Amino acid sequence: MPIPFFDLKKQYASIKSEIDAATQRVYASGWFILGPETEAFEQEFAEYIGVKHGIGVNSGTDALHLALRALGIGKGDEVITVPNTAVATVAAIEMAGATPVLCDVRADSMTMDADSFATVISSRTRAVIPVHLFGQSAELDAIIGIARQYRLAVIEDCAQAHGALYQNQRVGSFGDIACFSFYPTKNLGAYGDGGAVVTNDAQLADKIKMLRQYGWRARYESETPGVNTRLDELQAALLRVKLKHLPDWTQARRERANLYAELLPNQRVHPPIEMSYGTHVYHLYVVQCDESAGASRDYLAVFLKEREIGTAIQYPTPIHLQLAYQSLAPAGSLPVAEKLAREILSLPLYPELPLDDVRVVADALREFES
Ligand SMILES: *Cc1c(COP(=O)(O)O)cnc(C)c1O
Repeated sequence: MPIPFFDLKKQYASIKSEIDAATQRVYASGWFILGPETEAFEQEFAEYIGVKHGIGVNSGTDALHLALRALGIGKGDEVITVPNTAVATVAAIEMAGATPVLCDVRADSMTMDADSFATVISSRTRAVIPVHLFGQSAELDAIIGIARQYRLAVIEDCAQAHGALYQNQRVGSFGDIACFSFYPTKNLGAYGDGGAVVTNDAQLADKIKMLRQYGWRARYESETPGVNTRLDELQAALLRVKLKHLPDWTQARRERANLYAELLPNQRVHPPIEMSYGTHVYHLYVVQCDESAGASRDYLAVFLKEREIGTAIQYPTPIHLQLAYQSLAPAGSLPVAEKLAREILSLPLYPELPLDDVRVVADALREFES
């Protein structure tokens, strides 16, 4: 039996009656944009993360864009982030009119390297966006410490880390503001596009609420130039259903990740490292093929495909090596991220993945390593 990289149909099958009931409830209500479902979800999600305010928007990209704008960041300002992220992180900085600046990542956590971050700060730097990549928190104490020293805003990109802990607190509750995506494949995914901004700052929350709808405070009265990026009632209702299951799904992801870690031979292909400072929620299970030991990532992908095991590469090309963003940094200047892009491979991992499939994948890895 083939083992797909992921399978969203199984999740729907497991919660079908709840999802169908929520859908019917919204259809029957006759109210589809910014209403009671969105408000309830915003509260429930903010409470889950452990912050005061949540604002639903149309995507993670828009969440980042509005967070930057609410902080007053725009033309002439520099915003620091990492090259191994969804292009969305960098696109959002440009949407706000600011200039992205890239720093390198750590080899162990694959997230922002605080020392590298410190070296790219300039007099124009206004904010830093650490990305909690693959479900693991970045080293927040070090990053936030440096940001405070230089008076930079901290925007957490939590698009891959719903529920991940740094120390004993959920990511998204540390920065000045934090952004989530509910793209269908994320740990908390909608049935379409969706995103949210969360913050403890009432003023920032207020600005985001205006920005997401034409700068309106009252209807038809724009107080500031805004955009249209709203979370719709249907997605909010479906996300409310799924939020209740998120702790169980996170547990299931961790159980599968732990089984992989136990079974993988870990010779030239290394399992991901869970940093002692936090709790990984395994949005993706990303192994690293040691090229210097002769383990070719591309060959491993083919090897697994021949055995009908799906894999993916997140992300194959660092941002600064992509055509659109070559001006951001020269090739060779962000060596850790560049090496990771050549060596990483994501194995199948989702809450409904049968444990026996984990064993089959681990067996194939053992065969590859021998
Ligand atoms: C998915 C993702 C985004 C963008 O979210 P969308 O909802 O697809 O716009 C931003 N940052 C990271 C790290 C992501 O993984």
